[in-house]
Amino acid sequence: MTVDMFNKLNDTHNTNFPRCKKSNFQIYKERKQGVGWRLTFKCVKCKFISQEFVLFKEKEKDYPGQPGPKAAAANYSLAVGVMSTPMGNARASDVIHSLNVPCSSPTTMQKCTKRVAKAMVQLNDEDMGDKLVEVEKSNIANGKPANQIHISTDGRYSSANITSTKKPGQNALSAVMLAIVQEINILWGIHY
Ligand SMILES: [Zn+2]
Repeated sequence: MTVDMFNKLNDTHNTNFPRCKKSNFQIYKERKQGVGWRLTFKCVKCKFISQEFVLFKEKEKDYPGQPGPKAAAANYSLAVGVMSTPMGNARASDVIHSLNVPCSSPTTMQKCTKRVAKAMVQLNDEDMGDKLVEVEKSNIANGKPANQIHISTDGRYSSANITSTKKPGQNALSAVMLAIVQEINILWGIHY
């Protein structure tokens, strides 16, 4: 993407300003879009100003005519990545900033996280629905009531304190519970 940008930059410059033999490009304008950037260049040796280059893959709009520019797909990828770890947006931002890389604003991160979380819940519901159909089929095949599910569970939680004033796990930032359906060995994970 970056190499394409420089090739196009050179081509456009040389076509429009053929007399400028020693181009010297500098950033004319930079616009941040979460973790993505849009750049416009100028040549200090002539009057050339480039088009705006989009240095990220764009996400298609949710519906035709949706206002605003197309979203940067990387902002949503970041939200997916953060959700697969226990660190959360604030700590992810700290990690990215520690590399001296500008991160998305908290508002953008929160907006992307909300949308990714909604999609994840939908995906999980569909997945759980498929598993329930499997259990039902297995029960019917074994002559058991269709809606009977036997599970074994185990859970754990992370907590900065050993004790809680109310009950164990009440003060946890996150908790994970696993359930195994005994009939057909399906593993279910529940993450709070
Ligand atoms: Zn020039």
